[in-house]
Amino acid sequence: MRTTAVIIGAGHAGLAMSRCLTERSIDHVVLERGEVANSWKTERWDSLRLLTPNWQCRLPGIAYEGDDPDGYRTMSETIAFIERYAGMIAAPVRTHTAVTSVRRTDTGYAVTTDHAEWHCRSVVLATGACNIASVPDLADAIPRGIATLTPMRYRNADQLEEGGVLVVGASASGVQIADEIHRSGRPVTLAVGEHIRMPRIYRGRDIQWWMDAAGVLGQRYDEVDDIRRARSVPSLQLAGYPDHRMVDLNSLTAMGVKLVGRLAGIRDGKVLFSGSLKNQAALSDLKMNRLLNALDEWAAAEGQDDQVAPPHRFEPTRIDASPVLSMDLVRSGIRSIIFATGYRPDLSWLDVPVLDRKGRIRHDGGIVESPGLYLMGMQFLRRRKSALIDGAADDARDLSAHLASYLHGKADVPDLADNVPLAPALRQALASS
Ligand SMILES: Cc1cc2nc3c(=O)[nH]c(=O)nc-3n(C[C@H](O)[C@H](O)[C@H](O)COP(=O)(O)OP(=O)(O)OC[C@H]3O[C@@H](n4cnc5c(N)ncnc54)[C@H](O)[C@@H]3O)c2cc1C
Repeated sequence: MRTTAVIIGAGHAGLAMSRCLTERSIDHVVLERGEVANSWKTERWDSLRLLTPNWQCRLPGIAYEGDDPDGYRTMSETIAFIERYAGMIAAPVRTHTAVTSVRRTDTGYAVTTDHAEWHCRSVVLATGACNIASVPDLADAIPRGIATLTPMRYRNADQLEEGGVLVVGASASGVQIADEIHRSGRPVTLAVGEHIRMPRIYRGRDIQWWMDAAGVLGQRYDEVDDIRRARSVPSLQLAGYPDHRMVDLNSLTAMGVKLVGRLAGIRDGKVLFSGSLKNQAALSDLKMNRLLNALDEWAAAEGQDDQVAPPHRFEPTRIDASPVLSMDLVRSGIRSIIFATGYRPDLSWLDVPVLDRKGRIRHDGGIVESPGLYLMGMQFLRRRKSALIDGAADDARDLSAHLASYLHGKADVPDLADNVPLAPALRQALASS
């Protein structure tokens, strides 16, 4: 079968690109292995809410119009939103069509699926940044009888046996899951490595408001000194609870969650933790305060000071003087371990030589090193917000413009000039994270 462009993946990123290609009258299909919004339907836990407020659920041609702009969507609301969007833009989605290979041909690309082969001039990879939950190799040494899970398989605490739970990783997924499981009555130990502490509300405004208004989320990929590092930083320690409460190590220890350092090894049924917990927590406090200082400076410079509450700081993270460095899993009553240690994309089916030694795709702001091939939805792809729902509109606009010029035999580099450069203090505060 033939078409001009094939978009792979019907999450919000693929749909945003579909809308932009339709606007440009570029004939295309969207191939989806499951259903529209598949990742939200099949890979998230039950109680998850978006950590971006409702006003940030914007896609090309659609903005939030409800009466709760500062609320956080549940999973069913998120799925309904993405499904509604697919219908609104009449996206040409072929569901239950898994792509098994993409390869170059003389005229463009051949996209093989479990149903048919498509031939096209251009391909957009919108298959998501979070296809695989990363689990460290040392998990192989976990004694039998202890269940292991990742956030992609975790649904709710009832799924777990009674008994202790070790949650590994203290970024957005880890802290939310630790909070929920502890509330179910199962004692939780949380292994904490590098993490980014962040208040939910600062000076009376949601932190996402600050980051959006101050230009942090719009920061360009070619504006940071170390983009590789910026693309791999952990997610912000945030949750979208209806009461807007902050989730951090202090809120967890106040409930009774026990903190230990980064998981460093497993030997003879014993888990070993790094002694860096205190330093990690202090560093995270320092970086949070640097960012808040820079946001205060921005508010003063932009005349926002009288629109928001006065500046304030948060209590430093409380860490035991000598946290536990090793723990016998069975004797400590640990029945389950949840690895909330990050996610990565799966492009193993891509038969175009554009992956580096670590399996990362080589691209320049989403323009892949193979003419006519594009990428969407990855961490800091073109802007800091690229992997968020709210990041898809700008990226799809830029990359669809490039794709259109490629089809016309040109390759205009998309213009990022409409992005206001970030204030130097904010740039500096973010460079150190
Ligand atoms: C736990 C979690 C919470 C998040 N919370 C937020 C949040 O609060 N706010 C926010 O803005 N973002 C959030 N994100 C980030 C981001 O919005 C999601 O990862 C989002 O799902 C990414 O959208 P996407 O369209 O790029 O990818 P996906 O939604 O993952 O869509 C990719 C699609 O491609 C399909 N696909 C994959 N491989 C193939 C193949 N070989 N053939 C055919 N189809 C294929 C998948 O089935 C899927 O439907 C969160 C992410 C996670 C993991």
